[in-house]
Amino acid sequence: MADKRDYYEVLGVSKDASQSDIKSAYRKLAKKYHPDMNPGDKEAEVKFKEASEAYAILSDEDKRHQYDQFGHAAFEGGAGAGGFDFSSFDMNDIFGDLFEGFGFFGGGGGRRASNNGPRRGQNVRASVRVTFEEACFGTEKQITVNLNEDCKTCHGTGAKPGTSPSTCSKCGGRGQVVYTSQSIFGTVQNVTTCPDCHGTGKIIHDKCPDCGGRGYVTQRKTISVTIPAGIDDGQSVRIRDKGEPGQNGGPRGDLLVEVNIVRHPKFQRQGTDIYSTVPITYAQAALGGDIRIPTIDGDVIQKIKPGTQTDSRIRLRGKGVPYLRNPQTRGDHFVTLVVQVPTKMNAAQKDALVEFNKLMYPDSDIPDADGKSKGIFNRKKK
Ligand SMILES: [Zn+2]
Ligand SMILES: [Zn+2]
Repeated sequence: MADKRDYYEVLGVSKDASQSDIKSAYRKLAKKYHPDMNPGDKEAEVKFKEASEAYAILSDEDKRHQYDQFGHAAFEGGAGAGGFDFSSFDMNDIFGDLFEGFGFFGGGGGRRASNNGPRRGQNVRASVRVTFEEACFGTEKQITVNLNEDCKTCHGTGAKPGTSPSTCSKCGGRGQVVYTSQSIFGTVQNVTTCPDCHGTGKIIHDKCPDCGGRGYVTQRKTISVTIPAGIDDGQSVRIRDKGEPGQNGGPRGDLLVEVNIVRHPKFQRQGTDIYSTVPITYAQAALGGDIRIPTIDGDVIQKIKPGTQTDSRIRLRGKGVPYLRNPQTRGDHFVTLVVQVPTKMNAAQKDALVEFNKLMYPDSDIPDADGKSKGIFNRKKK
């Protein structure tokens, strides 16, 4: 604990920084160093903890005041060798608040109590289909999910009204049982969820008739999902508190809605860039001119140079997909120009093309407009 860094220095803010400065400084660091983003990186983990600790103190005006007066000494004593006692603040609250609406951190479900105390409910997963353009610009979608709600008859206890659950005798209400076994390492204790009460610590004798003792009832609910601009296929939107109900007064889990983007007939996407091909005629390729290019903003008129070859690429800057975390910035749209060869022509068109070929490539062999080849390579040399 000798060289503990100053909390303001850790977050890179001044001593008189506002709460919103502190929050945004922490948000940046937390995104950068979050363990989910840096799996197995010890240094990132240390940095993440350091920033989280600084944020926990400085975001709380009382604690910040104490820290300003006494420095780190203000919080020593209560904490163990690791320094800061993380159990005294709820990471989930901080992250929920900071990253609400964006499934940045996968299914991270917060801390799990190891006994029958308040337990956060499970996260629920759902999916929603959106069009290519909806994913680019964001939209609002309604989805229906089966949500478990606390049973109103028994208020979630699962016991028939007028009765109450009794404490589980197998685990003494702890929700866990300890088995002792012998191994080559000596006596080993295994802790498992109590098989009698399934971890609740309670046994229901008279089940609630409305929920069958489950404590909750399943209802179909329509939920509105805000799809942020720039979301990519397979990413999830987190909706707080729409997961399974918590146990013993714990908070609800979250609803994680995976976004599936429907294939677009013209556009392909890679990250924030869009790719498409646009046909041009042989004459346009040779002579140049204006062509019409479909983009997610509508058609764009683009001038092409005389002598444009097939497979030439045009880059339309800023016509790609908005960045999820910074929708004002957009990727690019890359267009590949493909010269079309006509497959059906009438006599006049054929005549014109034969004439063109004679002028342009007098030594090349093509059929005449009547379809007969002159076979120039078989002709007698002069
Ligand atoms: Zn009930
Ligand atoms: Zn039990």
